[in-house]
Amino acid sequence: MLSKSLLAGIIGAALLGAPANALAAPRVVATIAPVHSITSIVMQGIAEPTLLMRPGASPHEYALRPSEAEAIDQADVVVWVGEQLEGFMARPIAALAAEAVLVTLAEVPGLQVHEVRADENWSAGPGHDHGHDRHGASSQHSIGSHDSPGHHDHRAGIDPHLWLDPVNGKVWANAIADALATADPANAAAYRENAAIAQRRTEAIEAEIRKIVAPVRERPYVVFHDAYRYFEERFGTNAIGSVSLGDAQKPGAAHVQRLRDEMRNEGVVCIFTEPQFEPRLVSILTEDTAIEVGVLDPLGASLAPGADLYPSLLLDLARSLRDCLAS
Ligand SMILES: [Zn+2]
Repeated sequence: MLSKSLLAGIIGAALLGAPANALAAPRVVATIAPVHSITSIVMQGIAEPTLLMRPGASPHEYALRPSEAEAIDQADVVVWVGEQLEGFMARPIAALAAEAVLVTLAEVPGLQVHEVRADENWSAGPGHDHGHDRHGASSQHSIGSHDSPGHHDHRAGIDPHLWLDPVNGKVWANAIADALATADPANAAAYRENAAIAQRRTEAIEAEIRKIVAPVRERPYVVFHDAYRYFEERFGTNAIGSVSLGDAQKPGAAHVQRLRDEMRNEGVVCIFTEPQFEPRLVSILTEDTAIEVGVLDPLGASLAPGADLYPSLLLDLARSLRDCLAS
């Protein structure tokens, strides 16, 4: 049965006169909103990818609805980050049709990759993995968009929030264009041209972010969950810890107390919550302090899905940091 939005899309396309190549375009499903956005940029003028996950939901603990599982089933191309982020995808991916193209973005060559950090005091050095692998117990080997002989590294400790470094966003745009060109050779040139446009646009955004955060780069802050290392390292901002120990993991009273002390010692200016997390702990941490509370939105939960979401998400992170840290 067709969903209402799919039906609306078909009627809309019929009324507006769909481009001739839309009929031949592959059915593309992307998991999270930032990945869907990059895919949308690459597919501009050809077709619209489907966003799999409900907006605002955390990929770290997600249950597929039957209609969402069906969308994966029927896809010609599936774009996801990898088992470290979307553990819920292990089973549907194992069941994918042999002819479907799977783009595992965490395995694309040329990425800037960071390990998951220790749960507190990030200045103390490289940490251990503390949670991203809890959904990744499957022995499923994912298939990258590129053949990578000899590459059997599971990268168990990789921090999967890779899109928060725009340099990785650019690498992904190219990888998605390559995969789409394979699945849909008739539109190969258009995908590659769109990826080239994405590179230039992302470079402009990087420059803008540098300007936005320049006055507040040294100011110490705390984030809700350890999602922002890619952004911090690219732009040199000064996060000192996270409230939540691992994704989808409740911090204990001892951690909260240590973090409170550390926030005082380090002169933390701001603490950032997220749209999809309950902010009760933040009020415990800021009680009787002058620490400001801001919001960071790593998944673009508050943005409309589509081509503009990814650039807006990056710029919004920079602006949210500046607005809170400058106060
Ligand atoms: Zn996360």
